[in-house]
Amino acid sequence: MSSKSPNYSPDVQLETILAKELGRQRDKLEMIASENFVSEHILRVTASVFTNKYAEGYPDQRYYGGCEFADELEILTQARARKLFGAEHANVQPHCGSSANMAAFFAAMKPGDPFLGMNIAHGGHLTHGAPVSFSGRVFKAHYYGVKKDTELIDYDEVMRLAEEIKPKVIVCGASSYPRVIDFERFRQAADRAGAALVTDMAHFAGMVAAGLYPSPVPFSEIVTTTTHKTLRGPRGGLILSKRTYAKAVDDEVFPGIQGGPLMHVIAAKALALAEALEPDFIDYQRQILKNASRLATRLVDAGFRLVSGGTDTHLVLIDLRNKNITGRQAETALDKAGITANKNTIPFDKERFTVTSGLRLGTAALTTRGLIESDMDEVAEFVATSLHNCEDDSQLKKIRERVVSFSRKFPLYPGLDF
Ligand SMILES: *Cc1c(COP(=O)(O)O)cnc(C)c1O
Repeated sequence: MSSKSPNYSPDVQLETILAKELGRQRDKLEMIASENFVSEHILRVTASVFTNKYAEGYPDQRYYGGCEFADELEILTQARARKLFGAEHANVQPHCGSSANMAAFFAAMKPGDPFLGMNIAHGGHLTHGAPVSFSGRVFKAHYYGVKKDTELIDYDEVMRLAEEIKPKVIVCGASSYPRVIDFERFRQAADRAGAALVTDMAHFAGMVAAGLYPSPVPFSEIVTTTTHKTLRGPRGGLILSKRTYAKAVDDEVFPGIQGGPLMHVIAAKALALAEALEPDFIDYQRQILKNASRLATRLVDAGFRLVSGGTDTHLVLIDLRNKNITGRQAETALDKAGITANKNTIPFDKERFTVTSGLRLGTAALTTRGLIESDMDEVAEFVATSLHNCEDDSQLKKIRERVVSFSRKFPLYPGLDF
């Protein structure tokens, strides 16, 4: 959007902030595993006139007039979501991944019911039962985790807890688990308990869409996701389900927990789903995986220990304990060096969650910028040198200068002023 358009009344304060944020995104290396850059086309569609439209309800059952094109848009988006993931039903209205999970849980159980989710300290998400989240407050959460030796999900524990607790829902999917999840084993556990299996594929949805990660859709009653992580769409949520859960899911999204859908975001979801249906999306996802694998190899070469020893996905989780630095120190040092990432608990972490012993790095956003494996060698060197010189501000500043010139080789939104 140009600030030079007619009738534009400048808001200098706001423009400055927007320009600074664009500059930050351009000049730093974005390695937060849950972030990505949408295409310029998606950016434009997100700012469309649909932001003006109220469309409470669903196509042909709206509470407002003037919804004929909103209906057309939502039907198109639903069809694309079903096609991309081979799902029986799609609800494209959730404002975010958390509200998608909330709707899924309410569709499959009642307040107070027991459910089984992944321990947040082992890689699960807040909404998988953390006591501070609605999920841990409204429902009775029980947790499974990873095995101490392999740092892989303890499927025997999942089965044992399923039999013992008889949860109404088992939720799988994670935020900082670098390995492929065995959905078949979760299905067996859910069957043993008579539970619904809810899979939250927020992080790996892009790879599922590309056929590079097993699809949870055939195994799960309900699948939830964000649309803005590896799927590379606008910020938002999406729910896929079996036909038998369609009405319950729809009723929980609206009127259960949300009001009017964000139709401009749904328009951008439609475009993101179309982009994901293109063959070059598979190449993109394949490159994410190659880049993550190269990053993992180079970090191990530099003496870092990775949780589970490596990765099958877009993310690596570094255990910093052998380097005697905390996740918080690592995050700060990287930020000074121009690399954006986040501290993260590692399984059996002894540090507080505000400190942590881990660092999570992802390659989805850098891959969108055009980085390939050989570039990851340089990125890994930036990361390793920064972490090895955590306390040395002049070293970090030198890396920062190198990062800026490196970043400029990979243009981001070249035509945009903010
Ligand atoms: C990111 C994430 C979410 C939540 O998404 P928001 O859009 O931030 O609400 C839910 N589940 C998992 C596994 C995630 O990684």
